[in-house]
Amino acid sequence: MTGKKIIVAVDGHSSCGKSTLSQQLAAKLGYTYIDSGAMYRAVTLYALKNGLILSGKPDKNKLIAHLPSISITFRYNPAEQKSDTLLNGENVEKAIREPIVSNHVSPVAAIKEVRNAMVKIQQKLGRNKGIVMDGRDIGTVVYPHAELKIFMTASPDIRARRRYDELKNKGIEVTYDEIRQNVEQRDHIDQNRETSPLKKADDAVVLDNSHMTPDEQLQWAIKKVNEIITKDDY
Ligand code: C5P
Repeated sequence: MTGKKIIVAVDGHSSCGKSTLSQQLAAKLGYTYIDSGAMYRAVTLYALKNGLILSGKPDKNKLIAHLPSISITFRYNPAEQKSDTLLNGENVEKAIREPIVSNHVSPVAAIKEVRNAMVKIQQKLGRNKGIVMDGRDIGTVVYPHAELKIFMTASPDIRARRRYDELKNKGIEVTYDEIRQNVEQRDHIDQNRETSPLKKADDAVVLDNSHMTPDEQLQWAIKKVNEIITKDDY
């Protein structure tokens, strides 16, 4: 690898392994990895804890008024070799992965003011390049000039099964059916919201990993990075 640093934007559907690929790619390149979904999950956890979600719906105006009181940061956890998410200084890495957060996050992430606040933090994190960020709008809105944009997908059944196995391994009690329903529902809300809907950037390369191993997809992504950083005109 040369010393040139780029921005890698990884977007795609829910539970298709974006964070696994992004984390491994960042480690390989010596880049920072940022899980932008964790930020929307942390806002959702805050809203749940502060009674800002009633009958399953966020109280938009109250949540917007609370935004200045919500601080989201990351702290490297050497034991896990990845960053933990902090909400107002408290480590919420485990809590934000719970089904209650997954079930409420997409309506929270659809609020324009929430997105504006998160995008501002995300852009700051990438100002020196050397970053791999995954999410839904990274290549379209956060870093429209990212040198490499990857759009990931896989079949809904494969995604739900992977997510189910992951949560089971973490000791979180779930059924396959509820996971499948959540994955499809989040995709639907993410793709149809007014602000920054999930869509492939025109210049993104598609990675369908339905039938790929994590190592195969990592090799595929490293090849794409190499093609960019070895280009003469880069
Ligand atoms: O990536 P993850 O599935 O953890 O993200 C949780 C939710 O946050 C997504 O379902 C989506 O609604 C929202 N999200 C978003 N934009 C991003 C990242 C995540 O709207 N850049």
